[in-house]
Amino acid sequence: MMTNIIMLGPPGSGKGTQAEMISEKYGWPQISTGNILRHAIEAKSKLGLEAESYMGRGELVPDEVVDGIVAERLSHEDCRSGFILDGFPRDLHQAHALEEIASIDHVFDIRVPDQAIVDRLSKRRVCDCGETYHLEYNPPRAEGVCDECGKPLYQRDDDNEGTIRNRLKVYHEKTEPLIGYYREKGLLVELDGTRDIGEVFDGMCSRLDG
Ligand code: ADP
Ligand code: AMP
Repeated sequence: MMTNIIMLGPPGSGKGTQAEMISEKYGWPQISTGNILRHAIEAKSKLGLEAESYMGRGELVPDEVVDGIVAERLSHEDCRSGFILDGFPRDLHQAHALEEIASIDHVFDIRVPDQAIVDRLSKRRVCDCGETYHLEYNPPRAEGVCDECGKPLYQRDDDNEGTIRNRLKVYHEKTEPLIGYYREKGLLVELDGTRDIGEVFDGMCSRLDG
């Protein structure tokens, strides 16, 4: 039995935080297109060079680039019992491309109003290992250092107010229509993302276990 999951929601809604927790509990890999692209930028690869300017502006990286990354990643052995897509699909074109290569079982839509997003993202701190923290709501045990691997935490380049506002605009224009799309397919599970991290997680687990 496979369990294939999509995490939907605006930037900063908690997709990565929850995807990591689900991955840890159930063993399915978390596939974050944002993380894959950021690693490509760091490695200065051709993909990274192409993606960097889009990400810096808070625009979507072109569909054909991202579709290819996901198709390749989903072909790996570790996706055979399930996977958690975090940050993909982000528009209808990507949703259609995904349909060609995989079936989906649950779409978790984490709802957070725009007003809360700027606060969430300007106080987000991340580690290269993939861990995500928040200065108030989910702080690391030692200031500025990752609990998991001990490396220094940093702020993402696109977590500044100007870029955050554009990411929200792009979300409303391009990604939000996916809510109706997956609701019609009967796959949508709506979650109140303003609740505590543990409460949001419990909502997902009861769906997955039920
Ligand atoms: P996304 O992957 O959707 O962009 P993240 O998982 O990185 O979002 O979360 C964005 C920020 O909000 C992080 O700093 C994270 O620690 C924090 N966060 C995530 N979920 C919650 C929550 N339920 N309540 C408060 N803060 C949260
Ligand atoms: P995220 O880490 O999910 O917040 O994504 C950060 C940035 O990476 C986005 O603002 C986009 O520029 C790019 N990105 C991530 N996933 C996708 C995707 N599925 N399609 C297009 N661009 C993406």
